[in-house]
Amino acid sequence: MFDRELRLGDTIEDYCVRCKLVLDHGIVAIVGGEVRKVRCNTCSFEHAFREGKGGKPKKTKAQSLFDQVAASMPGFEGDESSKPGKKIPSRKR
Ligand SMILES: [Zn+2]
Repeated sequence: MFDRELRLGDTIEDYCVRCKLVLDHGIVAIVGGEVRKVRCNTCSFEHAFREGKGGKPKKTKAQSLFDQVAASMPGFEGDESSKPGKKIPSRKR
């Protein structure tokens, strides 16, 4: 998920339950390479890392919306059947 390895003290964005906002947090605990605990830089509240759940911009939602629009477009699925794949063979000579 992350391009670079995260280390203790690194700043990471997460949802702060106190501030009720996605804010910068300092990493205070890493287990098995995964961030487990963070501390809000704004209110200094320590909590489990939520992976930004609760307030991050939803890229995945926009992606699925795009898929829905694409799927509902006429000719998107029918493209396969409209191909001249089945040629009617001419009569045997
Ligand atoms: Zn906070």
